[in-house]
Formats: sequence, C-alpha cells, structure tokens
Amino acid sequence: MRIAHIGIAVKDAEAALMLYQKILGLEPSSIETVESQRVKTVHIPIGDSSIELLESTSPDGVVAKFIEKRGEGIHHIALEVDDIRDTLEKMKTAGFQLIDETPRPGAGNKLIAFIHPRSTNGVLIELCQPTKQTH
Ligand code: ZN
Repeated sequence: MRIAHIGIAVKDAEAALMLYQKILGLEPSSIETVESQRVKTVHIPIGDSSIELLESTSPDGVVAKFIEKRGEGIHHIALEVDDIRDTLEKMKTAGFQLIDETPRPGAGNKLIAFIHPRSTNGVLIELCQPTKQTH
C-alpha cells in the first residue's frame, strides 16, 4: 500500500500547475478530464506518489461545491490498495461510511471508491486500484 496521490481542489489547474512546473521543476504526467465526475485532473508525480490538481468542469460539480464551501485546499488522500473490493468490504463491515459501495472508473485507468470523511477523522479517503492495462 502507498499514498497514490493527494488531491488538491483548485480554481484553475493550469495556473496552479505553475508552482509545481515552473518553480519546482516537476512535470505533469497526465492532464485528463473525467466527465463522470465533472473534473479536470492534473497528475504531477513526486517520488512514489503524486499531487492531483482538481479543477471543476462545471459550476455544480463536487469540486466546485467544495471550493465554494471551504475554499481551495486539500480535497482528499488517495490510498492505493491491491484489492479495492476486498478493502471496501472490510471497511463496510467495520462500520465505515462508504460513498461508493462499489468501485467506479477514475482518472489514470484506475478503479476508485471514496470513503465519507465523517467516518475517517474528517479526511476524504479515496481508495484506488490500478486496472490491468492492455497495450
Ligand atoms: Zn484522487
């Protein structure tokens, strides 16, 4: 298991990228729009993890609502697990409040599921599992 990425809600991903790209010299590995979540994601690898900049593609998207309520900032922490369905099952049994009962497709060809911050000390946790890629 590892921290896959830290998601940061931003108003303008291109502008936010300047800090990481121009100042810190890091390059984004992907810029991707996930229509189902109405979000544009920019992944910036740092060591074994990455920063995920999240910009809403719609004024009523979850990221837009997050920024409206709390301002820009850390939105979630993504933990990579080997078997996301098994982890979800264990968390559900242990009484954690799942936002996604079953995994759904996320950015970067991964299966993802969110756990409600109400049951995880105020931190929105994203579980993710890389899906097998066929080239
Ligand atoms: Zn994420």
